[in-house]
Amino acid sequence: MNSLILTKFDGGKLEISSHALSQMLAYVQNTRCKPEAGGVLIGRYIASSFDIIIDEVTVPMKGDRMQRYRFQRARKRHQQVLDQTWLSSGGTSNYLGEWHTHPEDVPTPSNTDIKNWQRHLKYDTFNAENLFFIIIGIQNIQIWEGSKSNISITLIGELQHI
Ligand SMILES: [Zn+2]
Repeated sequence: MNSLILTKFDGGKLEISSHALSQMLAYVQNTRCKPEAGGVLIGRYIASSFDIIIDEVTVPMKGDRMQRYRFQRARKRHQQVLDQTWLSSGGTSNYLGEWHTHPEDVPTPSNTDIKNWQRHLKYDTFNAENLFFIIIGIQNIQIWEGSKSNISITLIGELQHI
């Protein structure tokens, strides 16, 4: 699969690398027994532009609570991966948002998802005005951009992945 390129509110590009896409698509809930999966988005702000690239994601780890209709990540372990990646990249790899799967063709965020995303926008530490939220459905991948200044969340892209 090619990388996916979207346009953000500020006109800059958001690129999701083919590596990150294939990491997430490995967890598509395409059989009845597969639980929800998820993790955090890791990537770079491209110098002297508004462009952002998501290079990789964290995938389910020990301690995550994975159920058919619910995914809760183990905060500490995903944070450790973020910290390590940030250090080994010399401070260029950053936390950019969250992803998880849904057992529906075209995913829509639940009320819990919206509340969680708003909480991330309010309380997480990140170096930009926005975070991105991805839901991997059975047919579609949907991408939302969240704004820190007014805690708004808007769909900026969707793509059929099968
Ligand atoms: Zn959800």
